[in-house]
Parts: sequence; structure tokens; C-alpha cells
Amino acid sequence: AKQKGNNRFQVYHPSMDIESYKLFTLEQDMRKAIQNDEFFLEYQPRVDTKTGKIVSAEALLRWNHPEWGRVSPLEFIPVAEETGLIINIGEYVIRKVCSQIYSWKERGLSIVPISVNISPLSFLKSCLVSTIKKALDENHLDASFIEIELTESSLISYSENVIAVLKELGEMGVKIALDDFGTGYSSITQLKNYKFDVLKIDKTFIQAMDKNAEDAIITANLIQLAHGLNMKVVAEGVETFEQFYSLRKNDCDQIQGYLFSKPIPPPAFEQKLLIGTLK
Ligand code: C2E
Ligand code: CA
Ligand code: CA
Ligand code: CA
Repeated sequence: AKQKGNNRFQVYHPSMDIESYKLFTLEQDMRKAIQNDEFFLEYQPRVDTKTGKIVSAEALLRWNHPEWGRVSPLEFIPVAEETGLIINIGEYVIRKVCSQIYSWKERGLSIVPISVNISPLSFLKSCLVSTIKKALDENHLDASFIEIELTESSLISYSENVIAVLKELGEMGVKIALDDFGTGYSSITQLKNYKFDVLKIDKTFIQAMDKNAEDAIITANLIQLAHGLNMKVVAEGVETFEQFYSLRKNDCDQIQGYLFSKPIPPPAFEQKLLIGTLK
């Protein structure tokens, strides 16, 4: 039977329900995935609304499962958070991104800051600051090339500890973005807890903008609010020109979404960096 808290001796038992079976299998496979190098990253450009230039990109984790093929992070990230594996994954992503930026720099590409998604769990349960410092040092990178996107989690709320780590990173020169703003656990109250550098407005909001006057008004005012608090604003999930024009009209700083580019593997991203602009 499954023994909680001791991962080495977990054995599947037929009485387990299908949900715990899935969880169990995913967890076992994820452990192997790190060792077997089945994870990789794609990069989605962030574009300056005024100039159309790529000013940043978000690193998004991909998993090529040996039997199932691609598994969506929407499926495996929640399991990784429940099992604590998200900490190993976070460290993997930070190391990978830093060595990727280094290799782009070496090859003479005009590099841009890359944002990485870090679970609040990593803020509490790991040496996040030293992991980031080490990865930056090893690749001779300035802290300004890394941005942390704080993903919301039902498991963890903002504690003093999380805020202390945020402050330490901020002092190092690492920018911090509040992800998925406007939905779920992310709320106005959080803007008081820490002075974020970037506010990412969630795609459900952006995509409702065309259809819904209220959403458009809320988005416009969110942008003003964020600017008033000295934050840059990124709109996520921009798919239509209508959304883009309306966001530009409302002074949104950056746009991320399928309209400009899906998340793409490094070689395709390098092509775009070479061209420099997407318009
Ligand atoms: P997220 O951080 O909100 O990332 C944005 C998601 O929106 C990505 O989904 C991206 O592919 C998708 N997206 C971008 N533009 C558009 C658009 O125009 N339309 C639509 N419909 N979708 C768009 P993805 O890659 O499937 O990732 C899902 C979530 O998984 C992420 O949401 C993030 O919460 C989590 N995740 C992904 N990679 C990592 C990671 O390395 N670490 C952690 N902790 N979480 C990750
Ligand atoms: Ca994100
Ligand atoms: Ca997001
Ligand atoms: Ca999200």
C-alpha cells in the first residue's frame, strides 16, 4: 500500500482509486523524467506594445513522456506541487534558462530577459536565492536577465517567509512579476504585500475584453492602477488584433499571446531574436 511520506517504498495497490493511481504514476514518471532529461523549455516572446520589438520571453516547461508523448504542464505541475517535486523542477528551469541565455550571448544574439515560473512552494522549501545566484554566476549573467513569475497556488498563501525571499531577490536585481492577475487567488490585496515589478493580466480577462464592455473597463483601469504603483503591465493570451489595439490604446506595456507567437523551441526563438521585431 501507499505509505505517505516515504517515497522509496510506495507500491501501487489495486484498491487505490483511479485519481490516486494517476497521481502515483505521474509522480513516479516525473522523478524519472528529471533523470532522463525528458523535460525541455519553450520560449514565448513578450513584445513591446508601442514598438513591436521582443523585449522579453517566458520560459514554459514541456514534458515529452516516453509513452504518452507530450503531457501538458496544466496536468503535471499541480501534481509536482502536491508531491514537492516542483522544487526540483524549479531548480532545473533556473539552471536551464541561465545556460540558455549564456549560449545565446556567446553566439552574439541580442539577448533579452527571460521570465521563469516559480511556485510559491520553492520560496518556502528551498534555497531559491542561492540556486539563482549560483546559476547566474556560473553563466556570468547579470541578475536583470532573470525575472521570476510568481504563480499562484491554493496550497500556499503569502507568508512573511515568501515576502522575505521576494525582498532578497529584489535587492539582488531580479525582477518579480505577479502572474495570472485578476483570477483565482491573485487579488488586489496582494499588491500591498510586496512591490512587484510587473503585473501580468490573466488571459481570461484579456479574451473577454472584446465581448464584454465591463472587462474592457476593468482592464483599462487595472493598467492605470498598476502604473500608479510603478509596475509594468503585461497582457497574456492576446489572440486578436482587436485585443491588441485596445490594449495599446490603454497604455499596456507588453503583449504576450498567440497573435505574435506561440511558445516555441530555442531555434525558432533565436530566429525571432535575430529579426528583432515581430511586426
Ligand atoms: P502561465 O504561467 O499562465 O503561462 C501561460 C500559458 O498560456 C502557457 O500555457 C501558454 O502556452 C499559454 N498561452 C500563451 N499565449 C496564449 C494565447 O494567446 N492563448 C491561449 N489560449 N493560451 C496562451 P502552458 O505552457 O500550457 O502552461 C500552463 C501553465 O503551467 C502556466 O501558466 C504555468 O502556471 C504552468 N507552468 C508552465 N511551465 C512552468 C514551469 O516551468 N514552472 C512552473 N512552476 N509552472 C509552469
Ligand atoms: Ca507565467
Ligand atoms: Ca499567467
Ligand atoms: Ca496560469
